[in-house]
Amino acid sequence: MKIKRNPLRVILFTVSIVIAAILFGVPAFLAVALYGRRPLPPLGHLSRTPANLSRLPRTEVCWVETGHAFGSGSFAMTASGLLIRHPKGDVLIDGGNSSRFEEEASQFPMWQRLVMIAIPGRLKPRGSLPEALRALGERLRKIQLLIPSHAHLDHVGGYEDLPRIPVLLSPLELNYLYDRKALQTGAVIPQQAKMLEDGRARELRFSDTPYEIFQQSFDLYEDGSIVLVPLPGHTPGSVGVFINLDADHRIFYVGDAALQVREITERLRKPFFLQDVEPGKAAEAVQQLNELHRMLPTLVMIPAHGRSGFFSAFPGGPGTCQSARGGLE
Ligand SMILES: [Zn+2]
Repeated sequence: MKIKRNPLRVILFTVSIVIAAILFGVPAFLAVALYGRRPLPPLGHLSRTPANLSRLPRTEVCWVETGHAFGSGSFAMTASGLLIRHPKGDVLIDGGNSSRFEEEASQFPMWQRLVMIAIPGRLKPRGSLPEALRALGERLRKIQLLIPSHAHLDHVGGYEDLPRIPVLLSPLELNYLYDRKALQTGAVIPQQAKMLEDGRARELRFSDTPYEIFQQSFDLYEDGSIVLVPLPGHTPGSVGVFINLDADHRIFYVGDAALQVREITERLRKPFFLQDVEPGKAAEAVQQLNELHRMLPTLVMIPAHGRSGFFSAFPGGPGTCQSARGGLE
């Protein structure tokens, strides 16, 4: 006997299955991706060369946010920069997405564009980077140098609106600007690569001076206030930046070496959507950061997109500053 199927019922059944998959499947997938991660083994054998904090000038650091998503809880994400006001010249670490994000994404094939809109596009600027800086009372000509944690679109895009300021990049990261896969997938935007190459790039050379748990370092003003260290994995030339206000107020900005602070404290691999160029090195970076956290629990680590990490350094929220006294402005 043949059972006759009602086509409308089949369509309704299929649609309800798809809706159920979206409603329950996507959150379940994300929950597994975020909470089903097993901790990496501890490194446990790192020696430490404590930072010299005896020559620190009066410095101030400010949270410059251009975009954010998912509120202010532990999932909240941000696209931000850190403005450091230093007597020898102000410095901006990272700069969020380009104010021309949509226009730049439109040059990529449909599938790629959808990924860009779904992930970095969630953190599109609500205003431009210069506007966010001016809101802090910053005069743009005081900024001497831009230091990206790496060359991805959601970190250097904002620099398009600060056209005359030099950008500090390591030879490895300068090379990465030509990486075919990065350019094809939109991780590096061709216009932004060109912008960085057009006479703006300054070469970052690390010295073999150990700093904390790192074997190489670069002390920008040679006074211990802004110290860069290699943190490869997410991209080949990714860097981390120590910002030392005083002995009790130290920040370590780790770029995309972690997505949220939890990955550092619990030694977890990053979720799948923060793709690493060198996954082995990226995992090792998480292990190193975990070890550093164990050695220096008061060091405030800030992953580039983890809004909760920024809030722990800046309880007053975006657009506030911390100075050596630890006071908010
Ligand atoms: Zn990023």
